[in-house]
Amino acid sequence: MMSALEVKNVSIFYGDTQAIWDISFSVKPGRLVALIGANGAGKTTTLKSICGLLPLRQGSIIYENQDISTMPVHEVADLGITLVPEGRQLFPKMNVEENLIVGSYLKRAKPMRAKNLKRVFELFPRLAERRKQIAATLSGGEQQMLAIGRALMQDPKLIMFDEPSLGLAPILVQEVFNVVKELHQQGLTIFLVEQNVHQTLKVADYCYVIENGRIVKQGTGKELEADESIREAYLGF
Ligand code: ATP
Repeated sequence: MMSALEVKNVSIFYGDTQAIWDISFSVKPGRLVALIGANGAGKTTTLKSICGLLPLRQGSIIYENQDISTMPVHEVADLGITLVPEGRQLFPKMNVEENLIVGSYLKRAKPMRAKNLKRVFELFPRLAERRKQIAATLSGGEQQMLAIGRALMQDPKLIMFDEPSLGLAPILVQEVFNVVKELHQQGLTIFLVEQNVHQTLKVADYCYVIENGRIVKQGTGKELEADESIREAYLGF
């Protein structure tokens, strides 16, 4: 099967410091693929490079057979690649609905605004109830849902999550993973970056492990759950 996203032999530097070392991975259409790793392993750097936010020193990024390695951010977004960034990055003084509308200003998304707003409110009834509430006054869990909702307003074909469960209480972590699963079931192609290895291995079709800027292991969620070194390093048993 053709890949939706193909990252080939990519290296990335910050100045003289190499952060990513020759990494390769692919995400097939409709799959939920995960990248797991500890703090500072290079997960956010990898995501930013796919979005066009960081230049590659080496390698290429192919999306639906098109080389996007040097494509500017807005063009990448208009192809349907959307990032739910770490830390949500909402507009705190705008209300829920205004934050969602901001997501729909892309060329590809504008004509779909009403349809996507309806979809977001169906997926997150709490956001519908609170559509006039100022974003800063939402709970952490609600803010994460709003960040995901805003990403959906961009009408993504490939949605990428940067540690969506970070800093959330366990019950909300479960909620976030349920939403990711639901979007997967709806057929979206998903690239999930997480430190919560336990939950991630349960939902991912396929998983890559990144350590110190290198992919050190890959396999299905089941395979990695059974892997002794993964259990020791990430699952604590
Ligand atoms: P986290 O969970 O902390 O977000 P991460 O896996 O996403 O971790 P990255 O943020 O991608 O890791 O960082 C990878 C490496 O690149 C780290 O060594 C980090 O210190 C370095 N790095 C990240 N951003 C910059 C920057 N703007 N300038 C210099 N070095 C950076």
